[in-house]
Amino acid sequence: MAIVEVWIDEDACTGCGLCEETCPDVFEVDDVATVKEDADFNEFEEEIKEAAEECPTEAIQYEEEE
Ligand code: SF4
Repeated sequence: MAIVEVWIDEDACTGCGLCEETCPDVFEVDDVATVKEDADFNEFEEEIKEAAEECPTEAIQYEEEE
């Protein structure tokens, strides 16, 4: 299934930087993580899922096509 949306729960994110390390093409971390506007969710599907699993506060949310 293709990922259609990725977002960060900013209240949960601690800005640890792990997601940017795992997938710098999609995530950018300053004070908190953000999803890059031009990110290609299809190309980086596996990395997005990995980053979401690895996130210590489960702040990375994504939605897959039905
Ligand atoms: S891995 Fe999670 S807590 Fe760490 S910067 Fe990314 S979204 Fe925030």
